[in-house]
Amino acid sequence: MSELRIPQELLPADGRFGSGPAKVRPEALETLARSRVLGTSHRKAPVKDLVGHIRSQLTALYGLPDDWQVVLGNGGSTAFWDLACVSLVRRRSSHGVYGEFTHKFASAVSRTPWLDKPAVREVAYGSGCLPDIDPDADVYAWAHNETSTGVAMPVCPLDGADRESLVLIDATSAAGGLAADVRNADVYYFAPQKNFSSDGGLWIALCSPAALQRADELTSAPDGRWVPDTLNLSLAAQNAAKNQTLNTPAIATLVLLAAQLDWIMDNGGLGFAAARTRESSRRLYEWVEHNELARPYVTDPALRSPVVGTVVMDERVDAPRLCRILRENGIVDVEPYRKLGTDQIRVGMFTSVDPDDVSRLTACIDWVLGEIV
Ligand SMILES: *Cc1c(COP(=O)(O)O)cnc(C)c1O
Repeated sequence: MSELRIPQELLPADGRFGSGPAKVRPEALETLARSRVLGTSHRKAPVKDLVGHIRSQLTALYGLPDDWQVVLGNGGSTAFWDLACVSLVRRRSSHGVYGEFTHKFASAVSRTPWLDKPAVREVAYGSGCLPDIDPDADVYAWAHNETSTGVAMPVCPLDGADRESLVLIDATSAAGGLAADVRNADVYYFAPQKNFSSDGGLWIALCSPAALQRADELTSAPDGRWVPDTLNLSLAAQNAAKNQTLNTPAIATLVLLAAQLDWIMDNGGLGFAAARTRESSRRLYEWVEHNELARPYVTDPALRSPVVGTVVMDERVDAPRLCRILRENGIVDVEPYRKLGTDQIRVGMFTSVDPDDVSRLTACIDWVLGEIV
């Protein structure tokens, strides 16, 4: 039984504001229910055509050059970090760390026995940074969108980096929701449970020729490192070229991903998606600006993410109670990232979220604040 009942007319049409897994569009679920490919072989034409369609839609969405490849495999973005330690980092990487996810990749590298300790530039959470230029770095890594803190960083060229080095961008929560010129990177990788409104479990990597060449070099060295098949980017690329994955993928995840790609492309592509998330976040931050009980966690407006908004509540507000009341009224997952302060709320505004629902969310929060403060 709810502590407080928010008036029906204030409630959003869809109360899912999580930062991943995030809102799945009901229309996509209908496509899934009608799909005839579930329960059929991933080595036969219907599933391979689906994978091929996803690869060509991603190529179109990002305007990828002909010599880039869309590669995919099982295990999500976390598995991709391990794969990068095997298949992409030759000896040393340099990281920009400004939240839990950027930290996790740096940590994965630092625990890899055959790699040097990585260079890590870390700033206070709520801010952002690019990696330091390092003469020994053969990989540079940062995140397009740091989901734990709601900081977005540009996918930009790195002045002074060795031309041989690779740039790996964690785009898990950015891809499909923020515009990017991915040609400034070598690998733009993500998982489909955020802007792509699918389920977790897959990693997808847009790979430059230099990245694929690095993977070939590292995974085929005769006296080189141990390369498990699941962490072998060259093997994944060979499979992807045949519209396959190394081992069985979750086919429902592929169907939902394809449905979301079709929806985004039919509405105008990345420009549509980016405008929608920009509008959602504009509404959230405008509300924050006019609310004396709330302030932005990300103080520099230029760093504020359009897809994940983080808001610090005034000390007069019991933020966990606010989240609990919202949850009891069907508005879910606005709790802050687990290791961040409990005085926050975090609002996922991925492409599927209707900007009008963000406005309704803020109206609901105002209503609850009126009751509990
Ligand atoms: C969600 C997220 C991840 C983790 O993705 P998994 O698929 O759960 O491994 C990594 N990086 C960022 C930026 C994320 O938002």
